[in-house]
Amino acid sequence: MAKPEVLIIGIDGATFGLIDPWVELGCLPNIAEVLHRGVRGMLRSTLTANTCPAWKSFSTGKNPGKLGVFNWRNKIYGSYEAKLVEPAEVGGRDLWDLLSAAGRRVAVVGVPMTYPPRPVNGVMLTGMLTPPGASFAYPREIGTQIEQNIGRYIRDPAVVTRPTENELFEQQDKITLNRLDILRYLLDPHTSPERDGYDFVMVVFTATDRLQHLFWPRTDTPQLEGAVLRAYRQIDRAIGEIRQLASSDTTVILMSDHGFSHVRRSIHVNQLFSDMGLLVAENQGKSLLQRLGITRQTAGRLARRMGLGRLRARLPEAAKRVVPMGRFGFDMSRTRAFSWSAGEVFINLRGREPKGVVEPGREYEALRDLIIDRLENLRDGGRKLKVRAFRREEVFRGEYVAHAPDLMIDVGEPGYGLGNPYAGSQVSEILPGTVFTDSPGRAARHDADGIFAAAGPHIFEGTEIRGAQILDIAPTVLHAMGLPVPEDMDGRVLSVFAADSPPAGRPVGRCPAEPEDTQKVPMTQEEQERLREVLRGFGYLG
Ligand SMILES: [Zn+2]
Repeated sequence: MAKPEVLIIGIDGATFGLIDPWVELGCLPNIAEVLHRGVRGMLRSTLTANTCPAWKSFSTGKNPGKLGVFNWRNKIYGSYEAKLVEPAEVGGRDLWDLLSAAGRRVAVVGVPMTYPPRPVNGVMLTGMLTPPGASFAYPREIGTQIEQNIGRYIRDPAVVTRPTENELFEQQDKITLNRLDILRYLLDPHTSPERDGYDFVMVVFTATDRLQHLFWPRTDTPQLEGAVLRAYRQIDRAIGEIRQLASSDTTVILMSDHGFSHVRRSIHVNQLFSDMGLLVAENQGKSLLQRLGITRQTAGRLARRMGLGRLRARLPEAAKRVVPMGRFGFDMSRTRAFSWSAGEVFINLRGREPKGVVEPGREYEALRDLIIDRLENLRDGGRKLKVRAFRREEVFRGEYVAHAPDLMIDVGEPGYGLGNPYAGSQVSEILPGTVFTDSPGRAARHDADGIFAAAGPHIFEGTEIRGAQILDIAPTVLHAMGLPVPEDMDGRVLSVFAADSPPAGRPVGRCPAEPEDTQKVPMTQEEQERLREVLRGFGYLG
């Protein structure tokens, strides 16, 4: 059989919102070919649409409630502290574990959340969240071989504070080209450590996510410039070259972990809670800003005039760190609900939280109902916004649901995003009454609608599918490769297979879930600190 059978190219944060117009203009010929020749559709991400749970839900086919990972930092159950995600502690057997167990040869490069490198039947180079300096390859010798032949393997970029558009592009482009070099090395029969080829190959490109966060394409200047388009073009070229190295019989899948969209207005959920009398910030009334001589009135006026982002940019560093790392900055004896990371709402529940004030049962449910009602009826300047809020049990299933936020917010209103995700109390302190602020010109946020496209001899041509979820990719790949889908996977096999193809002809097989053999290798203090630096550099940690 031609190899690889399946090739997945992940494009972190890719969105049809940008791809479609650029495909129209002829800028992305290789992506265009997959879209036109195969099946395409929106790929619904996890809620929240965060890189960590999203890639892990992709690789395991399981929802975050079974994995116990909801964000970069996850609130520690029964405490007011949050802990940085440790990929090694997240459960679930990955797609490549299942393929390896079935005797298939795999090559997996740069998928976030794959550290530490676990044994696979083939090669694994870990991706984002690999602590700097840590071992990144299985088997180790192949990692060394690759580095000897193509140079250093770049997992995460060096941290640059406030990079310019060009600097960030250059830095991200190095990673794109580096991953392309590795794929060339692994797929070219003259160099590959696997002479007979791999059955399953996957690579993830991340330049899109990083660049879109900071440099969303301008709409007031010609469309065909800017770092984001340059990054897409480079990835498009890489896709073309990787496909050349694969067989014409290979099923190729393009996917993103979540989408992206431009943000013009930010919604400050903690300020809303404060206005509702549900949240009291620590030191409210004598804030750092007041100690610096900035009164609430001045701050509010300034913020309205300048936008929150610019106001923050003018504040001394010390004032920005109102919330210490890993701690919530609220007066918990008087707070009933608070939002920590964007989209996550926790209730200060008695018996669960150290200073819980909300009674479980009726009071808890009434409070959740009240918050959902307020969020879903939010108005900005009189206009009702498309915002949904879900109880956790509506979104998650599995043993970790109890660790999940009590409510999850999904902002569907174009141009709106959740503001100040990690340091909510700043908003309460400095901007009373300001639930909405203007966002700086080129900001963008993760969006639940990512991309999916598949093409190959077994795939429908020129079809659009609806309702695909990130959980569905692993079962779909297993079925495409003639393997059963474990019963504990939440996803389903997508209807992408052409009517007369072998995968369409066979029923979806199911098999019992096997116990996990995840090696739990906790990171050292030093590794955690280095990783934190990387994430802080990205702006992910307040
Ligand atoms: Zn992402």
